[in-house]
Amino acid sequence: MIIFEARDLVKYFGGLSAVNGVGFQVEEGEIFGLIGPNGSGKTTIFNLINHYYPLTSGDIFFKQEKITRLTTHKICKLGIARTFQVVKPLARMTVLDNVIASAFCRENALKEARKFALETIEFCGLESYQSQVAKSLPIGLRKRLEIARALATRPEVLLLDETCAGLNPKEVNQAIDLIQKINRQGVTIIIIEHIMKVIMTISKRILAINHGKPIAEGTPEEVSRNPQVIEAYLGEEYAQGQ
Ligand code: ADP
Ligand code: MG
Repeated sequence: MIIFEARDLVKYFGGLSAVNGVGFQVEEGEIFGLIGPNGSGKTTIFNLINHYYPLTSGDIFFKQEKITRLTTHKICKLGIARTFQVVKPLARMTVLDNVIASAFCRENALKEARKFALETIEFCGLESYQSQVAKSLPIGLRKRLEIARALATRPEVLLLDETCAGLNPKEVNQAIDLIQKINRQGVTIIIIEHIMKVIMTISKRILAINHGKPIAEGTPEEVSRNPQVIEAYLGEEYAQGQ
């Protein structure tokens, strides 16, 4: 079943088109990757999906239902959660309180919200840090907290924006494990990731964009062989590695 569809998304900021004709469908239960060079419009696509920004044109469907004009809060309540590339925890609050705040998306009472928050914290391996203030955490743990906060809203579709950026290789492997564990629970994942190892390892299908436009879609093997992708993205990546 197609759980999510973006159809012909267009977003202009003033005269600049950040996203221009991007469409894709995501099957329930899959991990769908989104790649592209810096500034190609990836984060903007997430901002359009959860209506952080209004679309210039295009439509978004969740379980065949049009959600294009719903508010950010309603979209979260429907079951689509996202993390931010630049993590946005409630800095002065503890890890536990941060996750409780998110759990209130679905729970009405503190007792239930707290219970589910604690389960989520344990699921994400953050139990030893639950009383720490969010801003005191190193980046790797803040990224994990960001995932925990999104998960505490009980999403069916989870949007991950560069969850592995800034992590060391060990933390990257832990993040891959966590993402796969979340997926095994039945959560469909759309992931933006710059680290090729991550995106190629975990995605079932990938959409590559450049200058806000789709340039290739397919399995990781197909996309990584595509000449336009190599030129626009892998070339840049390889060049950086040299
Ligand atoms: P990516 O996540 O692929 O690096 P972004 O989606 O963040 O790219 O940005 C795509 C383009 O849109 C960039 O040129 C960026 O400067 C522009 N952009 C993003 N957000 C805004 C905004 N709020 N106002 C104006 N321009 C923006
Ligand atoms: Mg981005």
